[in-house]
Amino acid sequence: MKPAPFDYVAPKTIEDAIAHLNRHGSDARFLAGGQSLMPMLALRLARPTLVIDLNRIETLSHIRMQGGELCIGAMTRQGAVLDSNLVAQHAPLLQRVLREVGHPPTRARGTIGGSLAHADPAAELPVAALALQARFVIRSSAGERIVAADDFFQGMFETAIQPGELLTEIRIPSAATAGSGFEEIALRKGDFAIVSAAAWLAIAKDGTCTSARVVLGSVGPTPVRCPATEAHLIGKPVNAVAISAAAEAIPETLIESDSLNASRAYRRRIAPVLTRRALTAALKDAGKAAP
Ligand SMILES: Cc1cc2nc3c(=O)[nH]c(=O)nc-3n(C[C@H](O)[C@H](O)[C@H](O)COP(=O)(O)OP(=O)(O)OC[C@H]3O[C@@H](n4cnc5c(N)ncnc54)[C@H](O)[C@@H]3O)c2cc1C
Repeated sequence: MKPAPFDYVAPKTIEDAIAHLNRHGSDARFLAGGQSLMPMLALRLARPTLVIDLNRIETLSHIRMQGGELCIGAMTRQGAVLDSNLVAQHAPLLQRVLREVGHPPTRARGTIGGSLAHADPAAELPVAALALQARFVIRSSAGERIVAADDFFQGMFETAIQPGELLTEIRIPSAATAGSGFEEIALRKGDFAIVSAAAWLAIAKDGTCTSARVVLGSVGPTPVRCPATEAHLIGKPVNAVAISAAAEAIPETLIESDSLNASRAYRRRIAPVLTRRALTAALKDAGKAAP
């Protein structure tokens, strides 16, 4: 099937992109890497009257440290994030996750902002963004606002980005000494996750966990933090026994339905297994990163 007809513009500045959006309202759609939008156009699941191509806006592509945060422009290619030394140093979880996102050709085009704005419930990057407590910089003609990861993902393919707004940057607090791990089950390498688990641990010199974040993906409309699991670890020494108990604290009720590729029972069974593996990897990583 061919896309329905649409007009096309390729502005060179953020201001122009937002002006086009304001003129066309909800009939316009941004084009980032096109790895989700182009299939949606071809299948006529999206029928915008205007496509605003963001690929010529140079100020949307960067990876830099600023004020203790790793700042990644929304149009930065997933492949560039995967290859970045700065990301390896300050947010290696992003790279662990990106190795599971699609394939080299999709990562060469697909952007970090496109995946986060798209907010597919089975996507991996939203899981990492929540585990890293990223902040989302959103621009409109009214100015700039910053949304915390806890408030960004609002439903299936739904985020805090409102009509007239553009996601411009993702900011991640640097935690070079924390450890992280990511595990997923997918039908094939590079497919969307059936269930995924990210773990992020800060461990003091005496082995006590000072902060823990555990996030499950592909278990509902948005990625989900697991406070009961985190509470099992915080303030205590972390070892294999503690990790097993923490993983078993994931509530069975978290996964309420079958997914396209797996039953609810199977997903409920693998969620604690993936969590235990992600936490074990995070503990090992924290040991490497310890001050
Ligand atoms: C074969 C294949 C396998 C894939 N496998 C996976 C996988 O395993 N895991 C996974 O997570 N993804 C996977 N993807 C999807 C891929 O990660 C996409 O790159 C991603 O979903 C969208 O990013 P994009 O830059 O291509 O955005 P686009 O497709 O261009 O845009 C996606 C949506 O986001 C909006 N948008 C884009 N940028 C902005 C912005 N800055 N501000 C506001 N709105 C914006 C667009 O208007 C559109 O609605 C796969 C894709 C393919 C083709």
